[in-house]
Amino acid sequence: MSIQVTNLSKIYGAQRAIDNISFDLKPGEIVGFLGPNGAGKSTTMKILTGYLQPTSGNASVSGFDVLTQPMPARRAIGYLPEHNPLYLDMYVKEFLQFSGKLYGISGATLKTRISEVISMCGLEVEQHKKIGQLSKGYRQRVGLAQSFLHDPEVLILDEPTTGLDPNQILEIRELIRTAGSNKTVLFSTHIMQEVEALCDRVIIINKGKVVSDSSLDTLRQSG
Ligand code: ADP
Ligand code: ADP
Repeated sequence: MSIQVTNLSKIYGAQRAIDNISFDLKPGEIVGFLGPNGAGKSTTMKILTGYLQPTSGNASVSGFDVLTQPMPARRAIGYLPEHNPLYLDMYVKEFLQFSGKLYGISGATLKTRISEVISMCGLEVEQHKKIGQLSKGYRQRVGLAQSFLHDPEVLILDEPTTGLDPNQILEIRELIRTAGSNKTVLFSTHIMQEVEALCDRVIIINKGKVVSDSSLDTLRQSG
């Protein structure tokens, strides 16, 4: 399994942010993680990416336990956080060089990889601009470029299209489709159309619980 979540819970004080959730993603699946604000999507993703400790339960990515094998688990993941803390004063290319070094890529490999993601994300012109000068849509492209810079097996994308205009949404969707074609992708959204446009399976989460996990066809038939 590319992602395995087993009986995972996170409790903040009296608040059960996620409550005993379980699901698996097979290699190559693109799965929507659908739920309203506050459902527990970001919390689940932050546990998978090692930014939060669960209260109980287990999670693994590419076979690496996120608690006991955090480094290889992280290396297997490209993560786009919901509120992406991009460095606004950095030039796009400089930011990608910096990010690559954090992933342990350098030299000719990094140079090649940066050219690839710049071309894949349509950042040829923007690479020479500061991130702070870019539109929200382009900043999101930079975030995506960063997330797949180290060619991870798994992409975890937290609300990648929220706050974008319709045209930007179409562009980012297309990018996720292209970049995710040989990867396992878990992306969160509160909009059903996003799921319909990108994937064939949806996990619905509400108030910290998985309330449905099925193919889109099954979901449509059940109305
Ligand atoms: P979503 O990503 O689906 O919007 P979150 O995972 O961000 O949901 O939040 C799930 C629940 O946990 C919400 O009720 C939220 O207010 C709560 N929560 C998230 N982070 C914290 C925190 N650091 N402290 C207390 N409650 C939190
Ligand atoms: P995200 O959805 O990425 O968690 P938010 O804007 O919801 O971002 O939250 C920003 C920060 O506040 C995060 O660190 C989150 O964990 C924390 N947070 C969210 N909800 C609550 C809450 N109800 N009480 C305390 N902290 C919270």
